[in-house]
Amino acid sequence: MNQATTLEQITALCKRRGFVYQSAEIYGGLNGVYDFGPLGYLLKEAIERAWIHALQVEPGKEVLFMDGALLGTERMWDASGHLKNFHDPMIDCTACKHRFRADDIVREKACPHCGSYGTWTEVREFHLMFKTAIGAAEGSQGVAYLRPETAQTIFVNFKNIISTNRVKIPFGVAQLGKAFRNEITPKQFLFRVREFEQMELEWFCRESEAEGFYHFWIAARQRFFAALKMNPDNIRVRPYEAHELSHYSRATSDIEYKFPFGWKELEGIAYRGDFDLKQHSTYSGKELSVFDDATQQSYYPHVVECSIGVGRLFLAILCDAYREEVVEGEQRILLKLHPFLAPIKAAFLPLTKEQNSATEALYYQVRAATGLSLQYDASGSIGKRYRRQDEIGTPLCITYDFESAKDGCVTVRHRDTMEQERVAIGGLVAYIQKFIMPPSLENR
Ligand code: ATP
Repeated sequence: MNQATTLEQITALCKRRGFVYQSAEIYGGLNGVYDFGPLGYLLKEAIERAWIHALQVEPGKEVLFMDGALLGTERMWDASGHLKNFHDPMIDCTACKHRFRADDIVREKACPHCGSYGTWTEVREFHLMFKTAIGAAEGSQGVAYLRPETAQTIFVNFKNIISTNRVKIPFGVAQLGKAFRNEITPKQFLFRVREFEQMELEWFCRESEAEGFYHFWIAARQRFFAALKMNPDNIRVRPYEAHELSHYSRATSDIEYKFPFGWKELEGIAYRGDFDLKQHSTYSGKELSVFDDATQQSYYPHVVECSIGVGRLFLAILCDAYREEVVEGEQRILLKLHPFLAPIKAAFLPLTKEQNSATEALYYQVRAATGLSLQYDASGSIGKRYRRQDEIGTPLCITYDFESAKDGCVTVRHRDTMEQERVAIGGLVAYIQKFIMPPSLENR
């Protein structure tokens, strides 16, 4: 991250260029809920593909993917411990009625909202799951919860997965999908929201190997952020103290990112022991242990989990990539994104109106050949068009000029260096495809 980058700069860019909108803004908005606009969708989708790709190419590791339901039964959330444990301490100011997470408040100090002293209520527990009713059934039969994490749908499907796929322990099951948490105080833009997407990996292994895999995945996830070209100075690993561990966890480390508002959890890596499969076996009455041919005994696989929010990573990536520079006396805003992540991979720009139709034809041709998100932009001066693309992180600007029809070449201008080179039109598709290679491949 550029030292001076503020959250305001990021939110302003997201609003100005339509990356992210407050959900239902025309009705006053829904707090802690956001919609991703066209560019935001493309960036988010690229982040997700990078994550999937990184797990698919990890040497010697077998990871399967699944997509579970958002609604879950009460019994399932009882087994996982969420019904009992998934709450945050909450405190209210009796003067202004504002509500806070208790760990954000110092009782001896004034209310950060209205400035009153000594107006705090007692700390109470606030349950974070969204509860809903299913169909016409009465009583607890009809109770369901929106999932606060994707992990549990992996655990409850463990037997299905292992019996319908030719996999052997150790292996992983990964899932990318929505999660819902009724956060007391959503804040810091996409950092803490009520509806978000998670990318989770549950790695199933033998107890004897679990600690090794825990450290392996901490290192692998750091390699992922490095491959995305995130600044290593903004990433650190923080192992939990014993008193911080969740009820299921034997060891946990956060990979933290240095956000404009401080070091905060970006991804959690937890050694969950055999808690999950055991609990679901007990609560469901269906045995989720596996049989070990070598020892002729059944055992519950142990689990190492890697869990990250897409939106939180989206925010970290934007903070990391954002630059403001002065070029020839003019300010340029730049998103120095890994080309794979860029919402628009290349922009096609006619130098003057005369080249409009030839440039547009080339744009459609390359788009059809690559299936990539590209843009054709003919309005305004070439300098303005470069700036517009710099601001959304487009790595390549391709200009069709007076020479192009004659020499069969275009000028390719690079976002970060602003250097230009001539590239043959016949080789353009291959050039772009090579340039935007998935991050984890390019390092090998
Ligand atoms: P926190 O302590 O920040 O509330 P947590 O420890 O409860 O987070 P986990 O349950 O470990 O979070 O969730 C795994 C990951 O999911 C987090 O590292 C984060 O990236 C993402 N995440 C969790 N809650 C939210 C949220 N409310 N908004 C956005 N992302 C979230």
